[in-house]
Amino acid sequence: TQVTTDMATLKSEVERFAKGKKLEIEALKIRESYRKEFLGNVSHELKTPLFTVQGYILTLLDGAMKDKTLRKKYLNRAMKGVDRLIYIVKDLDMITKLEAGDLHLDKENFLISELIHSVYELLEMKAAKKNITLLYDFDSNTDVMVCGDKERLQQVLTNLVVNSIKYGEKDGTTEITVEDFINNKILVRVTDNGEGIKQENIPRLFERFFRVDKSGNRKEGGSGLGLSIVKHILEAHEEKIYVESEFGVGSEFSFTLEKLEEVTEVDPLITEMT
Ligand code: ADP
Repeated sequence: TQVTTDMATLKSEVERFAKGKKLEIEALKIRESYRKEFLGNVSHELKTPLFTVQGYILTLLDGAMKDKTLRKKYLNRAMKGVDRLIYIVKDLDMITKLEAGDLHLDKENFLISELIHSVYELLEMKAAKKNITLLYDFDSNTDVMVCGDKERLQQVLTNLVVNSIKYGEKDGTTEITVEDFINNKILVRVTDNGEGIKQENIPRLFERFFRVDKSGNRKEGGSGLGLSIVKHILEAHEEKIYVESEFGVGSEFSFTLEKLEEVTEVDPLITEMT
């Protein structure tokens, strides 16, 4: 009858509403726990180098100052701590700007090969220290003109290649490939054969300060902000990033860029550096 149908509809509406509220509360709880973790991370990341600097200054004041060799050694170490603080604060500053949406993009047209060359030039030495070979391979001898904020996009590629070196295997390779993608876009892939990432960690990679290895790896000097900066810059360009990774095998980070026109006859099919 009419009444039972209405009651049934009402009941299912109520259930749906309750389920929706429950999901909302769950989402809020998750967000709140991320926020707490984020704040904890900020203070932890800042505390470590601050205590280092404090330690060296105290030792100097305690008498090490009088010894010329020790003085130089400890001042250098304190300086490294200060550099690290500046690095973290700069990344935090960038993240804050990006999240507030006040990022001004200076768009220009450029060849994707230029971007790859500059990033490789910048990171050649870093890769060489781990004997990692940097490769790039242009699909079918073509180069592509793209439009975007070159400096910011260079940071995107730099962060991805830096990670591939940091988490890459010693004597391994990092390869960049550029290929056609749907909707007049190209896909820039950065592939490594490094330590890889467990599936359960993949959804959290782009969160501020998220690091798979929370304790160790500090020697690499990362802030856990690199990938969230990457994501924000690409979002500002209305582009996407994808991750594929297998633990113990390697990772591939790829992002899209709008293609303007195809340029043929670019010389190196494969350029090897290092
Ligand atoms: P970090 O400064 O720690 O490198 P990122 O935001 O750049 O911060 O990366 C977040 C985390 O994602 C890293 O700590 C690392 O655990 C993981 N990660 C990023 N890139 C790779 C990669 N190429 N291979 C393995 N793990 C990676």
